[in-house]
Amino acid sequence: MLDDKDFIKSCDVPGPTKEAIRAIILYKSEVTSSDRVVDCGCGTGGITCEFSQCAREVISIDTNLEAIEVTKSNLKKFGLGDNVTLINDDGANALSNIDDIDIAVVGGSGRQLKNILDIVDEKLNSQGRIIITAILVDTKVEAINKLKDLGYNPKIMEVNVSNGRVLDRGILMISENPIAIITAKKR
Ligand code: SAH
Repeated sequence: MLDDKDFIKSCDVPGPTKEAIRAIILYKSEVTSSDRVVDCGCGTGGITCEFSQCAREVISIDTNLEAIEVTKSNLKKFGLGDNVTLINDDGANALSNIDDIDIAVVGGSGRQLKNILDIVDEKLNSQGRIIITAILVDTKVEAINKLKDLGYNPKIMEVNVSNGRVLDRGILMISENPIAIITAKKR
């Protein structure tokens, strides 16, 4: 796994999704070297950089041009990116031109989550996996309900990670913000 502190960051771009969360996402995705992955809302490129090391191909989309540029810089910094395509567009627009998806990660959707999930469902191969990360309670509920409507059997895991800072007087645990990882598999 890459180290959070090694990522180039920008104050206008959220991310990277924290290391422990990226590890759970990779594990839940059941990624293989033949998979085509879409990272919708790539932000700083945390998820993109991890998947580019173990998938066949990654297509990363963000509405924010600066997110695309930061992701590109991080891929370069880590010596990755040969198998990554970056698209500066809304997820719903970009996804309508992409087929044959094995794994769709939705880390940002604005108010387009339902739209994005409709298109992902159309383009996802059988046995394909959908992974949504959500911080807002409302997004969690919206994601679960939409996946149910689309005929999936969604699972949701709320993750609370605290990292220890070793001080002279003891170990101080510092918590990260809780995040839900919602997963579903196409039958
Ligand atoms: N997983 C990322 C962080 C994602 S932050 C990382 O590890 O770095 C969420 C991102 O989603 C933001 O950069 C935001 O610009 C993008 N976003 C929000 N709505 C979007 C949409 N409808 N389509 C594409 N990207 C979107």
